[in-house]
Amino acid sequence: DDLLHVSDLHKAYTAPGAAFRQEAVVKGVSFSIAEGETVGLVGASGAGKSTIGRMIAGLEQPDSGTIKVMGQDILALKGKARRQALRPIQMIFQDPYESLSPRMTIEQLVCEPLVIQRLYSGDKRARRELVREALAEVSLSPDRYMDRYPHELSGGERQRVGLARAFIVRPRLIVADEPTSMLDPSLRLDLLDVMKRLRQRHGLSYLFITHDIALTRHFCDRMLVLEQGVIVESGSTDAVIDDP
Ligand code: ADP
Ligand code: ADP
Repeated sequence: DDLLHVSDLHKAYTAPGAAFRQEAVVKGVSFSIAEGETVGLVGASGAGKSTIGRMIAGLEQPDSGTIKVMGQDILALKGKARRQALRPIQMIFQDPYESLSPRMTIEQLVCEPLVIQRLYSGDKRARRELVREALAEVSLSPDRYMDRYPHELSGGERQRVGLARAFIVRPRLIVADEPTSMLDPSLRLDLLDVMKRLRQRHGLSYLFITHDIALTRHFCDRMLVLEQGVIVESGSTDAVIDDP
């Protein structure tokens, strides 16, 4: 089975207070991601990329279609069973600052997903060890970072904290929604290197959402091109980029 199989996904938003749904922003999207594969989802702003990412990560409900994670039909499940089936998928965002509570230390922030998802109820020391391990995986020295706060970190460091929060849950697929777009160009490749190393060491897959096609050349095996909610092109990254 594929790690992720998405078929005929549709989504329209309803404006608050409006009687009718607006025009669909995702219109019949289908694709699969195999174990270890890195797939770029590219397209202009407003094309529907984030909406697709959020639906896959369980943060948004599709109107119709199927999402299978390791063979399990997510939309047919509810409550705890759904959360468990979705656990292999974690998401990172454009601006990690938004998801990092300013009053929590980096240790607490990286530990938070374990606490929220009730993944680990062991003793403090064992939990701290998992946090240290996750920080080391994203090249942040645990001794230097555990006790600091998000505002004391650079944008690139905060993004790596976001990645550590995703990694600590031991996902198989990370949905990365424009993770580099708020970083300086020199730091973009650093973050991609950290993501690549997680892929090499743990066989992680990625759905890499970006409007920057050039970045996919550094990172993605395969690419899906989205236009107004429809996949208009897909194939190996080189083939799609070189296609005039
Ligand atoms: P992309 O990630 O490609 O920029 P999005 O999925 O963010 O595209 O948005 C697709 C369309 O859906 C846009 O027109 C956007 O304004 C609209 N949209 C996104 N989120 C919402 C929302 N929560 N409510 C209403 N409209 C939304
Ligand atoms: P101490 O009292 O030794 O400073 P804390 O109470 O700050 O320890 O945290 C104990 C453990 O629980 C740590 O591993 C920390 O990461 C985690 N933790 C504490 N508060 C939270 C929280 N609000 N969300 C997630 N994890 C937390």
